[in-house]
Amino acid sequence: MTLSIYVASSWRNERYPEVVAALRAAGHEVYDWRAEGQAFAWSSIDPDWQRWTPQQFREQLSHPLAREGFARDAHGMWRSQVCVLLLPCGRSAHLEAGWFWGQERHVLILLAEGQEPELMYRGPKVDGGGIYLSLDELVADLGRIEAGAEPRCHRCGCTEFDPCEDGCWWVHQDPWLCSRCDSKHRDEERDEEPPPPFLVLEDSCGGGEFFPVGSTVQFVRRTP
Ligand SMILES: [Zn+2]
Ligand SMILES: [Zn+2]
Repeated sequence: MTLSIYVASSWRNERYPEVVAALRAAGHEVYDWRAEGQAFAWSSIDPDWQRWTPQQFREQLSHPLAREGFARDAHGMWRSQVCVLLLPCGRSAHLEAGWFWGQERHVLILLAEGQEPELMYRGPKVDGGGIYLSLDELVADLGRIEAGAEPRCHRCGCTEFDPCEDGCWWVHQDPWLCSRCDSKHRDEERDEEPPPPFLVLEDSCGGGEFFPVGSTVQFVRRTP
């Protein structure tokens, strides 16, 4: 079975493209947050972003581009069964890996030279994740996870044990697709949209909401 994988890492990590390519070559589906045309950069909001005050930072987290970038990556995480935490990396990647740990999904940590030891890496390891010294070692161990992986809808992330609201059933295998996400069945339930798979984001300014839909994000502006 193909695994869906999120590679949590840093923009500055030079091994990232190699790791994404190796996971895809091993037959897995990888969400690439660096993909051209969809990667988020603070500089697109303000070229002077590195000099923001904490107050500006807090305000700009609600900027439409920040909301869109967050919703896209959050949806990529929601759809992924496995997180590969690729070192060295910073705050963002570690927060993402922590989310996977909290969701009881797999976290595989690929170490690098020159990194300080970190006690919290015990956490996901104890829950069935692993800590690896080489990419080969990590890819080989994915077979163990594949063998025990439960089917997960590749559109909405639902599973046997956590089906869509009102229930759903499998209409396709490899990739797995549930009836709520299948267009044929959607037509039958035209009046009823499936629930948003991850987050409906709102903020105090009421500027709009993001609904992650499939692999894209729609911006829905509220009418005042
Ligand atoms: Zn589904
Ligand atoms: Zn479903």
